[in-house]
Amino acid sequence: MTEITGSCLCGNISYKGDVEVKMVINCHCTDCQQATGSAHGTMVFVAEDAVDVSNTASYYSHPADSGNTLTKIFCGTCGSQVAGKNSGREGVIGLRAGCLDQKDLIQPGANIYCDSAIPSTSMDPELKKFPGMPG
Ligand SMILES: [Zn+2]
Ligand SMILES: [Zn+2]
Repeated sequence: MTEITGSCLCGNISYKGDVEVKMVINCHCTDCQQATGSAHGTMVFVAEDAVDVSNTASYYSHPADSGNTLTKIFCGTCGSQVAGKNSGREGVIGLRAGCLDQKDLIQPGANIYCDSAIPSTSMDPELKKFPGMPG
């Protein structure tokens, strides 16, 4: 288990936990692009109940292509998106890598939704690439 901490840009939201990293993914879907305002999103997936997010967080839910409900956890003051949840993955939370303090934990295992990747985005050729959501 690894102790983690993270926060939004203004510090209004913080979280901490003692987690086991399940998976780290670079996601190139248009939702991640829009939600983060960046070329892609990088998520560190851990057990939701291992992370304590401050109650100052705001939530935004929207439907995914799959029919699942995606929930963004963000700061209503500075706009940072600190984490996300997917109703199809009960008990798992995806921490947005940029808000996580322990940068050495951010070791992506794959690139997903490569079909909607921004053409200039370079990807590590060593990593698996999936056109959409893996299998
Ligand atoms: Zn903030
Ligand atoms: Zn995505």
